[in-house]
Amino acid sequence: MSAGIGQDIQRAAAILSEGDLVAIPTETVYGLAANAFNADAVLRIFQVKERPAFDPLIVHVHGMEQLERVVATVPPEAEALMRAFWPGPLTLVLPKSPRVPDIVTSGLDTVGVRMPAHPLALELLRALDLPLAAPSANPFGYVSPTTAQHVADQLGEKIPYILDGGPCTVGVESTIIGWEDGLPVLYRPGGLALERIEEVVGTVRPHVKQVLPVAPGMIESHYAPRKPVLVGDVDRFLREHADERCGVIAFRNVHDAWQCETLAPNGDISEAARRLFGVLRELDASAADLIIAERFPEEGLGRAINDRLRRAAAKR
Ligand code: AMP
Ligand code: MG
Repeated sequence: MSAGIGQDIQRAAAILSEGDLVAIPTETVYGLAANAFNADAVLRIFQVKERPAFDPLIVHVHGMEQLERVVATVPPEAEALMRAFWPGPLTLVLPKSPRVPDIVTSGLDTVGVRMPAHPLALELLRALDLPLAAPSANPFGYVSPTTAQHVADQLGEKIPYILDGGPCTVGVESTIIGWEDGLPVLYRPGGLALERIEEVVGTVRPHVKQVLPVAPGMIESHYAPRKPVLVGDVDRFLREHADERCGVIAFRNVHDAWQCETLAPNGDISEAARRLFGVLRELDASAADLIIAERFPEEGLGRAINDRLRRAAAKR
């Protein structure tokens, strides 16, 4: 049986409250959601995605009252960030409430939380009044979905319902911020520029502590199409692969290649981020032999784009 697709909030809420899964739209990417307080429902997320149990989920809330049921404390810096950027593409890693089952956080005593800026996601969270654990709605390790159709293509046979909120407006996952020794650290660059976060909390350092119980590099390969991906000097790669069909991903330039997808001819980095995953999927499904991508400016959303491309290119 394949998933229903539509805008029926009541149907989505009913399915979720019965302990089943629904794919939901957010401004970043589509999520595969379950009631965060129901450990059996959350286990289904890991099964459907074939996601390893050591990779914790982000919990989605519709506001501060709901947040207080999920976290143990809200430090002042976290509150300042929420006030500035929620709802929006910013996940905060905070001490967890004992009510959140261990499976959600992979046994960590912290939980990643965010308030999504998507009207349907917020309406659903309010109707249900349960926090939703939701990673991206794709098989583990593959490119994240930015349309309901992307979700249907890969998980359509495994879940009952996809809430269709149109194409994602941000298009890359949330920026994840936590605290080490009381100082803010970056766990993942994403849809909210680090520069904007630093305007609120000052310098944010790269995280140094190994939080996830994995060997370094184990989830280095991620967001990855099936085809080989090369990132960097496009002209050199095109010369080296002159006899192959090369699908190129460029920021504003056009390259003379078998296919070239220029993400944002006008130089708008937000537009480039919004289109990135869709273009990766298209080229993966095309007759291209390999995918070659430019490196983007290492600032603003360019940081998140480079991170995703680097991991798409990492050897499995
Ligand atoms: P996603 O697959 O987009 O839902 O992203 C989930 C990611 O959030 C995980 O892979 C972790 O990198 C990060 N994350 C979630 N919870 C935590 C946590 N408690 N501590 C550190 N990172 C977390
Ligand atoms: Mg993911």
